[in-house]
Amino acid sequence: MSEITEKLLREMAPKYWGYTYEGVEVRDALLAGAEAMRERDRLAKLVYVPGMRKCAKCGCVLITTNLHVDTGGFSANNEPQACPNGCGPMWPVTERDAGNEMVDRMETVARERGELRETVKALRKALPVLYTMCMVAKLPADAEKAREMMKWADEALGVEYPADAALSALREEASRQQPKEAARE
Ligand SMILES: [Zn+2]
Repeated sequence: MSEITEKLLREMAPKYWGYTYEGVEVRDALLAGAEAMRERDRLAKLVYVPGMRKCAKCGCVLITTNLHVDTGGFSANNEPQACPNGCGPMWPVTERDAGNEMVDRMETVARERGELRETVKALRKALPVLYTMCMVAKLPADAEKAREMMKWADEALGVEYPADAALSALREEASRQQPKEAARE
């Protein structure tokens, strides 16, 4: 603003508008401030996960909600929270951070799922061997239980495997390995 314009405003404002130039500045600043706060609140809703707070020190995450007794509804609690572990204030969590964390968690779940699958596969392989060993050693072997467990493993692995046929083959194999006992029966 030029010096002349400012001088004019200072002189004209009280005369024509009933308040001072400085008063106009303050009013404009207040209006701008209120507008900035509205904009901040609008953006905060887009940026932060509602009701979620995280402790920067210990990593504790809280999701809190308000219960509205009158309507019976819930809403996110966006009030500041203190860490339950006594670290101090907790921070709001951005949608981006929450998204990254979810990807990390999914990767962990996928890895763990792969490991579990390998364990089930190993068990599935071991079951018939154990069953055969029991039969050969004339230990009590529960065919029904073995079949059940093999079926369970097959279902967990998502494979079609004729457990009954496999067991029959194993019984034959076992009786071949103990010809004397088989002959007696
Ligand atoms: Zn903490």
